[in-house]
Order: sequence, then C-alpha cells, then structure tokens
Amino acid sequence: MSLIIPSPSIVRPSGQSDQNGTDEAVPRALRQRVYLPAYAVALSIVGLIAIGWTTHWGGASLTSSMTGLRIVIIGPVTLAILALLLVAERVWPAQDRSFFARGHRQDVLYTVLNMTLTVPFIAVLSLSFAEVVRTRLPWLTFPRVGALPHGLVIAAIFVAMDGCNWFAHLANHRVQVLWRFHELHHSQEDMTVLTVFRTHPFVHFVYLIALLPGIVLLANGALPTGLLVAYAGWVALAHSNIRLGFGPLGRILVSPNYHRIHHRTEGRQDVNLGFALSIWDQLFRTAIFPTPQTVGLTTGLKGRPLIVEHGTLRPRHLRVFLLQLVAPFRPMPDNRAPLPTWTPSSSDAER
Ligand SMILES: [Zn+2]
Ligand SMILES: [Zn+2]
Repeated sequence: MSLIIPSPSIVRPSGQSDQNGTDEAVPRALRQRVYLPAYAVALSIVGLIAIGWTTHWGGASLTSSMTGLRIVIIGPVTLAILALLLVAERVWPAQDRSFFARGHRQDVLYTVLNMTLTVPFIAVLSLSFAEVVRTRLPWLTFPRVGALPHGLVIAAIFVAMDGCNWFAHLANHRVQVLWRFHELHHSQEDMTVLTVFRTHPFVHFVYLIALLPGIVLLANGALPTGLLVAYAGWVALAHSNIRLGFGPLGRILVSPNYHRIHHRTEGRQDVNLGFALSIWDQLFRTAIFPTPQTVGLTTGLKGRPLIVEHGTLRPRHLRVFLLQLVAPFRPMPDNRAPLPTWTPSSSDAER
C-alpha cells in the first residue's frame, strides 16, 4: 500500500517570501515535503510523555487511569448510549443515509482506533500533564475548603471543564497547526454518532487544558465517573444524524441540530463550538441557533482540502484512513481556505 500522495505546492502566509532571509532559515525543499509546525506538536507530546514516564506518572496508577477512561469511552453504558443513538438515527434521520454509507464505514475505523490505541494514549498524556502542572505550578491547586458543598464543587468543575473544551475547540479553528489536526473531524460528509470518534489522536493535546479545573479543585472533590460517562454520551448525541433540537433548552444544552451547524459545508465553521453547554457560544457571540432551514444541512469541508473516503471511485477506507492520519504532517494543499479571524459581529450577522 502506498502512502505517497502528490506533493502540492505550499501556501505561504502573506508577508513572507523566499527572498526573505528568515524564510530561508527553513530550506524550501524541506517545507515542500513537510509541515514543520505539526512536528513541533508531535515533539511536545513526546516531551510531555517523557516527563510523565520518568516521574512514574507522579505516583498515579496508569492501570486505574486507563480503566477509568475505558469506562467513559467504551464502557457498557457508553456503548448502550451509542447503540440507542444508532437506532434513533434510523428512525429520525436529519439526512437520509444508508446504515453502511461510506462515511459511516470510515468512522468505524476511527471508533476502533479510539477503543484500542487512543485510550492508553490519552491516559499517559493526561497523567503526564497533571504531573507537570502539579510540580511546575503547585500554586494552581486550591487547598481543601471544608465549608464548600460537594455538589457545588462538582458543578464548578463540570462547567469549567466544558468551558475549557470550548476554548480549546476555538483554538483548533483559529490556529493553523491545530486546525490541521482538527479538520479531520470536519471532513465527515455522512454525520453519524460515531463521528464523535473521527479525530486525530494528537488533537487531544490541546484538550488537556480541560483537565485544569479538576486539578485546581482536586483537594475539594472530583468528577464522578458517571458524570463523565453522561458527558461523553452527550457529545456523542450532538454528533448523531438525528433531527433533534431542544427548543428553549437549546439556550443551555447543545443539540444535534445545533452541532450540525458547526459541521456545515457552507458558511463559517467556527460557530457553535460548545461540547455540552451552548452558553459559551452565547457569551462569546459564536452561537447560531437552529431553524427549519438548518436542519439536515450538508456537512464536510468545502473543496475537500483533506482526502476523504468520498473522493475516490472506490472508497479504499484503510488507505484513506492512513492518509488522513499523516495529512497534518504534509504540506498544505492549495485549495485550503484561510482560517477565519476573530470578528464576533460576523457570526452575529448570521443569526
Ligand atoms: Zn470544530
Ligand atoms: Zn463535531
């Protein structure tokens, strides 16, 4: 199987040229073959895990961490939720799709990847990050405050964690190197509940900041596994191909109709960035609420700058899967649209 793809020419950021001395610091031949910032992310991940490894994960148990993560991502309750949503997609589809649509089959590969390699990867990444924060930034951890009600602590961690996920998601849409890892998630043209798994493993690096609220309040309480399972189930629901909005409740919670707007092919995709709560989008003016016209919108990346299973005569799932995983490290293709800039009023205008 060949992983060689045509070498597209590089899209050079405006203001830079080959006549520029600093530009020449990186040989042009190298830049035409690889996208160096993606390697910087990979190196950062290796460095972080190396710290975790050499410090024995700060004394934490890697086995119990992986077990907890497995319960959240592939535990019996999560699998039951996924199965229920797959059935609901047949009954109330937002878009008519065969159960065996190409995009669905491709997402099965990502589901298998998540259920096997991604779980231990996230576990070592999380333990390493927690150890670095604990040792390098010990002042971040609050001491125990006995008077704090347990329920309030749990609610605060949950809301702050969701807020951090929103912020990391925004960064994925605004920072070029992060977008190169995140665009895989947006390449899905046959949305299904399994699209929640269609992510590049390295995208989890930026979502590590969502661990911070739990680390800050660790002495006062921790999120129960059941709540994390419910959170994972909710994010899966948001990706399902179900025609479902929440009416006024959509002002608080993310619905499938709401998240589909985030995945739409036409229009800005840096809107409706919320994971479970839609309050962050309203706060930062990136919310577009569903209307009858937005239900069943087509999804995917305009112009297909990333190879997708729909782009070839035969699907060739495994080959496309491997090419999608190495794509962030390849030079940027010419047909890549520029990333949007921070102009809140522009998303307001679409309301
Ligand atoms: Zn996104
Ligand atoms: Zn999504």
